[in-house]
Amino acid sequence: MQVLTFLAYLVAAALFITGIRRLRTPETARSGNTIAAFGMIIALAATFFVIDIDPVLGLPLIGGGILLGGIIGAVSAQRVPMTGMPQLVAAFNGVGGGCIALVALSEFYQGRAETWVASTTGLLTIIIGAISFSGSIVAFCKLQEIAFTGSVAFPLQQVVNALIVLGILLLSANILTDGALAEAVGLPVLTPLLSLYITLGAALVLGILFVIPIGGADMPIVISLLNAFTGLAAALSGFVLENYALLIGGTLVGASGTILTRQMSGALGRPLGKIIFAGIAAAGGGDDEDDEEREVNDVSAEDIGSYLSEDSEKVVIVPGYGLAVAQAQAPLFELMETLESQGKEVLFGIHPVAGRMPGHMNVLLTEAGVPYEKLYDLEDINPEFEDTDAVIIVGANDVVNPAANDEEKDSPISGMPILEVENAERVIFVKRSLSPGFAGVDNPLFYDMDKTMMYFTDAKQGLQDITEAVKNA
Ligand code: NDP
Repeated sequence: MQVLTFLAYLVAAALFITGIRRLRTPETARSGNTIAAFGMIIALAATFFVIDIDPVLGLPLIGGGILLGGIIGAVSAQRVPMTGMPQLVAAFNGVGGGCIALVALSEFYQGRAETWVASTTGLLTIIIGAISFSGSIVAFCKLQEIAFTGSVAFPLQQVVNALIVLGILLLSANILTDGALAEAVGLPVLTPLLSLYITLGAALVLGILFVIPIGGADMPIVISLLNAFTGLAAALSGFVLENYALLIGGTLVGASGTILTRQMSGALGRPLGKIIFAGIAAAGGGDDEDDEEREVNDVSAEDIGSYLSEDSEKVVIVPGYGLAVAQAQAPLFELMETLESQGKEVLFGIHPVAGRMPGHMNVLLTEAGVPYEKLYDLEDINPEFEDTDAVIIVGANDVVNPAANDEEKDSPISGMPILEVENAERVIFVKRSLSPGFAGVDNPLFYDMDKTMMYFTDAKQGLQDITEAVKNA
């Protein structure tokens, strides 16, 4: 049976790797997801054959857990709107981290972490799993905008964090020395089990304090970092439980999360150390006192239609979070077709963090029928703006905000590479108001009367009206 289970785990691991590989492009991502999920079913089923389950109590409990978890997972995945995916990812990630911490805790509680290696690994699993759990819950609240929005900071926050880390290290040493450390300093009340519970609580608090100061544009990086934490905790618990599926699955999640974190922080010019230790303060809704008095070039769909039809040859479309909220991808596709039917060249500029999760815009647009080769990454589209006649920015702000390059102001997007739309002949914003985006930083381009056209409307209706106007121009 052991050999069969091992083989089943091997098959599951191969399916996980194939699944991840297929996530590289939207065309194969769906099947990749299904393949990896199938691998997980195999791993789950195989595990039943290698663990001792009490048929009276254990079996119904585990079966009930799988059923309940499966139903909650399936229903929430069905119901969540595309714009709510990052929150769902944060919540699932948190549940994973919490679950792994509990499993390791139970191993300790039942005295199964006998060797020094097993107890150190188990302890690390509890700490990392707990940080991942509470950090992900805070990330969920931020993204859902129900609590901790923006950057939440308090005086001496880093000192408090450092003290908690020190406390965790001392308590861990006490646990690993079986209470000898506490005895030596005259605190025999601090038993290993009590130390374990306090460590768990401290790790939960650390997870909260670690994520609350992070605001604005850094959330995608933090989500992927927390994902890496959960993977690492799962891999460690694989060691403790001697379970290959957990070990391999956890390592894959940990490694891919780490690679994604490094790539995003590199691509966005946000060093990880700065994000974690500096807790960049969130800017307010606008950084200029006289916002309300500032004039903008407020235009109609007809104005835009005639400019696009008569004065534009090359058009770049930049989609953002508002496009996803308005579910305006189909009208955007229609606008593209209408412009192309008039002989215009139409490209799409996709910023790595446009929307609310990596790849958000690519998925939406390809699902609406936009050919993948029309989607240009940041580095590829920026040189194109110089000879572009019109950039249509639909429900986006942070990803095109030149304030990111303002060296005199430290804002949540400072240093983030942006789509350099200001280099185009004309910039057309389709959004409902002058309100800023997720990072809360006002955009100086809104007020450029010569270059910018502001069309204040819902993205879906606005794009339909512009398409009509282009046809009638
Ligand atoms: P932003 O959040 O900067 O801007 C979105 C804009 O959409 C808003 O200014 C809003 O303006 C507009 N909008 C909202 N609803 C509508 C609607 N129905 N119709 C028209 N416009 C609408 O989005 P970006 O895509 O530019 O930037 C993404 C931000 O999200 C970045 O800061 C990024 O770091 C962050 N983020 C990204 C993640 C990722 O992985 N991609 C994950 C988490 C956060 P108005 O209200 O005036 O209409």
